[in-house]
Amino acid sequence: NRVPSKGLALFSKDGNFEPYEFSRHAIGDNDILIDILYSGICHSDIHAGRSEWGNTSYPFVGGHEIAGRVAQTGKNVTKFKVGDYAGIGCIINSCGQCDNCKQGLEQFCEKGMVGTYGSHDHFHDNEITQGGYANNYVVSENHAIKIPQNADMKRVAPLLCAGITTYSPIHFSKVKKDDNVAVAGFGGLGHMAVQYLVALGAKVTVFDITEEKRADAKQLGAVKYVNVNNREELKGLENQFSFIISTIPAKYDPMMYVRMLKMGGEMAIVGLPANENVPSISIGSLVFASHRKVYGSLIGGIPETQEMLDYSVANNIYPEVEVINADGESVTNAYKKVIDGKVKFRYVIDMKTLK
Ligand code: NDP
Ligand code: ZN
Repeated sequence: NRVPSKGLALFSKDGNFEPYEFSRHAIGDNDILIDILYSGICHSDIHAGRSEWGNTSYPFVGGHEIAGRVAQTGKNVTKFKVGDYAGIGCIINSCGQCDNCKQGLEQFCEKGMVGTYGSHDHFHDNEITQGGYANNYVVSENHAIKIPQNADMKRVAPLLCAGITTYSPIHFSKVKKDDNVAVAGFGGLGHMAVQYLVALGAKVTVFDITEEKRADAKQLGAVKYVNVNNREELKGLENQFSFIISTIPAKYDPMMYVRMLKMGGEMAIVGLPANENVPSISIGSLVFASHRKVYGSLIGGIPETQEMLDYSVANNIYPEVEVINADGESVTNAYKKVIDGKVKFRYVIDMKTLK
């Protein structure tokens, strides 16, 4: 019994969002059905929706920052009961058996994790997954995140991607109190990174390309804001930071930031620009880079996502959100505004308003 679903889809890479009815695989014994309350708009949705990372399959329903309520449970489900709040991030299934899955690193499942949208679901006849700009979702209970009843639901949704993607490398690099650190790209992901780093007691410098966000950076506890379009502000920043996270979704020079690391410092790259804009790092520059380290990071596994969510809710760390209605025009318009740098800091679609 497939589950009927309706949402908002793009039908081509330069089209507009329109209503779309489709179906999801049946609720298996280990699955839950979630009625979606809120869905965040991540810049990854935009890269994918516009085929900026290669050809996307259309119709395309984006959304991997999903917060909702459990509506139905399969007969073996123990983690959730009907009525509980539940979240879905970027991973909806993985083998659970390989070394990486056993370590809670489902994003690196050796059999291939199934992504929330645009992914071949090899547990269900390879059907292509559709995301959370929709009224519901069917997910295996092991890949759904428990959301505490006291959480602010509209602000919880973006934690499921923007939250975990920044929380994970900050902890992987063991950032601690008084460390001098930086966040490059101060948008949906970046403003979460600032909050996690400030909560750890680190001294945070923010890099972005606009004057408009200078006051916001201060307000979130950053000690310094650098407008990278202002050459003067970039002077004297070499050898400063023990950790830098780059969330930049556009073309830039990563070595500029590598040079700002102290010897042995670490730079985590999470921003993934469109294929035509992906920056490269010369290995020559790295060989002469004084043991500074550069690594990429992909979201986070399920156990760490649960840890991040519990930590964020308990410490009142949430994104700043702008809630929009679930109609094609509003979502199409929101995409335009993210691309134009006109969002502070995350759009969240109120899926209850879907007609
Ligand atoms: P946003 O658009 O919300 O934020 C990006 C920010 O970077 C904006 O403030 C933007 O400014 C700023 N920016 C753009 N160009 C530069 C530049 N040259 N120097 C400094 N800042 C710049 O995007 P998200 O935070 O949602 O996503 C960021 C990136 O991370 C995307 O590429 C996304 O695909 C990727 N991502 C990766 C994940 C992973 O697992 N690795 C998971 C989730 C997302 P302005 O707004 O003015 O343009
Ligand atoms: Zn995302």
